[in-house]
Amino acid sequence: MTCEHSGCSLNAFSTCTNHCKQNVCLEHLIEHGDRFLHDFTNLLDQLDKSTSNLTTEMTNCATQVSQE
Ligand SMILES: [Zn+2]
Ligand SMILES: [Zn+2]
Repeated sequence: MTCEHSGCSLNAFSTCTNHCKQNVCLEHLIEHGDRFLHDFTNLLDQLDKSTSNLTTEMTNCATQVSQE
């Protein structure tokens, strides 16, 4: 079986389980792993931002309530 990454003709090493579920060579497995990690980091970053936005909103709300 060959690597399913487009344009790659190397022998497949393992399944890219966390990402595309395709059989890829070691090189592409690492590459896809990096991409997954990158996406995941971005996701965490976004999550972190939305959490801090939420915290700001909550604080604003609490301030408004205590002023009334
Ligand atoms: Zn993949
Ligand atoms: Zn490959």
